[in-house]
Amino acid sequence: GTLTAVSVPACFDYALRLYQGRLRSAGIAVERRWGDDETWVQADLVRLEQVLVNLIGNALQAMAETPTPQLILSIERDNQRVRIGVADNGPGIPEQLLPRIFEPFFTTKSPGSGLGLGLSISSRIIDDLGGHLEASNRPGGGALFTVILPREAHPN
Ligand code: ADP
Ligand code: MG
Repeated sequence: GTLTAVSVPACFDYALRLYQGRLRSAGIAVERRWGDDETWVQADLVRLEQVLVNLIGNALQAMAETPTPQLILSIERDNQRVRIGVADNGPGIPEQLLPRIFEPFFTTKSPGSGLGLGLSISSRIIDDLGGHLEASNRPGGGALFTVILPREAHPN
């Protein structure tokens, strides 16, 4: 698709709108860690949205049994790069599985609830934009996925 300057907060807002009903009915608290200032990246809007939708969807599935589920979305930047974070307080990713979760068709979900393609496709989309997608576990528990992309200083 076409690369344009994409607003990262707007992209998060779009992805969140898709999950609004589920977030509310599951009582999931959403924390948005970013300020009022705009942050831009060069991207195909639809594909970047798809990545955020995949990551948020995984977070929601991971928190299905979590008593006080919390979704933490963040945007951090320096002059060169933007770091887009999607974190949860679910069970996290078993350390021995971390190297495998980006493989096509790798899933720990039951048939029907996951094809195992979301992370491999997302990682490919971000690589194609000159960035990368990283997975880790949070010190306090839960998973953190970070999309790192070159920063676009101006909207046009
Ligand atoms: P799928 O969601 O269809 O299983 P993905 O490629 O999106 O495929 O994810 C692959 C695997 O990575 C998942 O099956 C799960 O084991 C692990 N994973 C992804 N996101 C999370 C998360 N937020 N918390 C724990 N494990 C996760
Ligand atoms: Mg998935």
